[in-house]
Amino acid sequence: MAEFECTVCGRCCMGMGRYVKVTGVMGPDKYAAIHGISNETFYPVVLKAFRGDFDIDKKKVAMGWCPFLMDADDEGKYYCAVHDTIPEFCRKYKCVSMRFYKSETIAGSLRGRTTLVSDDGALKSLWDNSVMTFPVDDYAAWKENLKKVLSDNGYTVEDYD
Ligand code: SF4
Ligand code: SF4
Repeated sequence: MAEFECTVCGRCCMGMGRYVKVTGVMGPDKYAAIHGISNETFYPVVLKAFRGDFDIDKKKVAMGWCPFLMDADDEGKYYCAVHDTIPEFCRKYKCVSMRFYKSETIAGSLRGRTTLVSDDGALKSLWDNSVMTFPVDDYAAWKENLKKVLSDNGYTVEDYD
């Protein structure tokens, strides 16, 4: 089974502003916070690399972002300013349960139980005609069929479950 690798796209953290709340300031670059989904209290410490740029008062909370999400770096990656002290919820979070690759490039992913996220027309067509036509009530069998259909058609499947 493959290990889930985060691509640091930041999308999941851009929706977390309504759940991750700062509840106190514990010292320079140290906070108390709560994650409202898992109901965890945590004590985030801003990583040294971000201390010059991080400003809790200026973060884009109004846009729905988690207050600890940094703006994109030069490579378009969105890092968490407190990555070493994040709550369990963030540590365990996987945005997708499978990714599908064509020629080592991500062609799509499985979100939720049966939702394909992809811009690949051939993959979408396979999904409609050979994946979603398989009964989903036996989910393990459904996933095995999905892996077979995709690998028979030149896709590599990473399963993170
Ligand atoms: S967990 Fe997924 S959505 Fe969140 S930053 Fe990583 S790749 Fe992006
Ligand atoms: S604490 Fe970090 S990993 Fe968790 S939602 Fe906020 S920015 Fe994302």
